[in-house]
Amino acid sequence: MGADQGHEDYTRNMATGASTSDLAVLLVDARHGIVPQTRRHAFIISLLGIRHIVLAVNKIDLVDFDQSVYDRLRVEFETLTLDFGFKTIMAIPLSALRGDNVSRKSSRMPWYTGPTLIEYLETVDVEQQRCEKPFRMAVQLVNRPNLDFRGYSGTISSGHVATGQQLLVARSGKISTVTRIVTYGGDRSEASAGMSVTITLADQLDVSRGDLLAACDSRPTVADQFDAHLIWMSEEPLYPGRSYLLKCGSKTTTASITAIKYKINITSFEHLAAKQLELNEVAVANVGLSEPIAFDPYSENSRTGGFILIDRFSNATVGAGMINFALRRAANIHWQSVEITKESRAKLLRQRPAIIWFTGLSGAGKSTIANLVERKLHMRGLHTYLLDGDNVRHGLNRDLGFTEVDRVENIRRVAEAAKLFVDAGLIVLVSLISPFRAERQMAREMVRDDEFIEVFIDTPIQECEKRDVKGLYAKVRAGTLRNFTGIDSPYEQPTTPDIHVLTADSAAEEAAERIVRYLFERSYF
Ligand code: ADP
Repeated sequence: MGADQGHEDYTRNMATGASTSDLAVLLVDARHGIVPQTRRHAFIISLLGIRHIVLAVNKIDLVDFDQSVYDRLRVEFETLTLDFGFKTIMAIPLSALRGDNVSRKSSRMPWYTGPTLIEYLETVDVEQQRCEKPFRMAVQLVNRPNLDFRGYSGTISSGHVATGQQLLVARSGKISTVTRIVTYGGDRSEASAGMSVTITLADQLDVSRGDLLAACDSRPTVADQFDAHLIWMSEEPLYPGRSYLLKCGSKTTTASITAIKYKINITSFEHLAAKQLELNEVAVANVGLSEPIAFDPYSENSRTGGFILIDRFSNATVGAGMINFALRRAANIHWQSVEITKESRAKLLRQRPAIIWFTGLSGAGKSTIANLVERKLHMRGLHTYLLDGDNVRHGLNRDLGFTEVDRVENIRRVAEAAKLFVDAGLIVLVSLISPFRAERQMAREMVRDDEFIEVFIDTPIQECEKRDVKGLYAKVRAGTLRNFTGIDSPYEQPTTPDIHVLTADSAAEEAAERIVRYLFERSYF
C-alpha cells in the first residue's frame, strides 16, 4: 500500500467485499522514515477497521542495515498510531530489491530475530477471525432452475451455517430453517466464511437479491438512516442532498448525504466544518436511504458495514463509507398513514395530479410560459399551483445562496414541496433553473413516473443575455454577480425531456398551448 492508487483499490475492495484480508502492509522507506503520507495511509487503514499492520521498513540496505534506524521508525510509528485501535504492529526490516527478510532470512541483520514478511503473512489467519463472527450472507442470486428448487446463492461473509439451523431474513425479520447447503462440489451439512454456497429454506419466504441472511441470535441492524465515515474519491465534490446509488453487500439503493457532521484533516486529525467534500477528503456524515437496509457497524463486521457510493449518471464509484451506527430518529419516525388519499382528493378535483417541471437558463422563458400554462389550466377549472424559483427564495429557501451546495438543497426542498402539492391532488408547475441532472432526476423519482413532466425551455445563452429581463447578465458582465448559471456555474442540459421547447422557434403563447395539449392528450384532465 505504497501509493494512493493502492488505497483507492483497497477501499473499493473493502466495500464490495472483494478483499480477503483484514491486515495491511504499510511500506516505509528507511531513508525517509515516517512521512506525512505514512500518517495519512495509517489513518485510512484504521478507518477501514483493519487492526493488524505490518510496517515494512524497506531499503534497509541503503542505511547500512542499521538497527537504530529500524528501532526509531518502529517506536515513532507505534506512538503515532496509539489512538488508531491497531491490535498488532509487526515491524519488519527488509530490502525488497535484494530479497532480505522478504522470503529469506537476512544474514546481514543478525540483530533482527523476527519472521520474514512471507513467513509472517502465512501465520496470520484472518479467515479464522471471520469465521468467529455471527453468520452473514448477502444473497447475490435467487437460484430457481425449476419449480421444485428455490435456493439463495452468495458467498458467506462471516460465521458458520449448518443444515437444521434457523436463519433470519434481516430486512423482513422472517425466520426459516436451512434444509440444504449446496455447493459446486455437492451438498454439505455445514459451511463457513469465504465459501460460495446455495442455501435452501424450509419455508417459502420473500427473499430477493440484496437481502441479507443472518444468524437469528445476532441480528443485523435494519435502518434507512445512519452515521458513517466517508472517503470521497471523485473530482466532482460531494454535495449533501444530491442523490447517489449506495451499494452495501449485494444491495443497491438510492441515498443522499443528509448532513456532513465534520470533515477530518488527516494530517492534524482536527475536525472541521464542511458544506461539501472534495477529492480524498474524509468526513463523518449522516446518510439517508430511500428504503431500509440491513447492516452491521463497520467496526463489528467490515463485510456488512462497508459501502460504496456510485454516481447515477457515470456509474463511477465516487466514495466509500463505513457505517458507525443507525440514527435513532430513523427508527422512531414512522410514516403516519392518513385516510384521505391522493387518489380520493384527485377524484374530487376531477384531475390527475402532476409536476410540470420547467428547467432552463435564467431568462429562457420558464416563468413566462409556466404562467401562461397556469392561466390556461385555471380557465379550464383545474386546480394548480405555481412554485417559482425566485419566489420560494423569499421564504422557504431564504437561507440558501447560489453555491452548488445551496442550489442542490434549493431544488431538493422545492421538489419535496411539489410532492406535497401533488399529494394534495394539484397540478404543480415548477419554474426553476435546476441546472443539475442529478437533482432533476431526484425530483422525478419522488413521484410516480406519470406524475412528472420535464419541460426544457431551450434558449441560447446569447438570446437570454440579450433579453436580460432582470438585468442579471449585465451584473455578471460587470463582475458584481458570481456563480451565474451558464456563465461561471454549469447548466447540464436535459437529454430526454418530455417536452422540448425551443423559444427561438415558438412564441410563448404557442409553447404554453403545446404543453396544455400534452396534458389533455394524456388524460390529466
Ligand atoms: P426565466 O423564468 O426562465 O428566468 P422569464 O420568463 O422571467 O425567464 O423571462 C423570459 C423573457 O423572455 C420574458 O421577458 C419573455 O417575454 C421573453 N421571451 C421572448 N420570447 C419568448 C418565448 N418564445 N418564450 C418565452 N419567453 C420569451
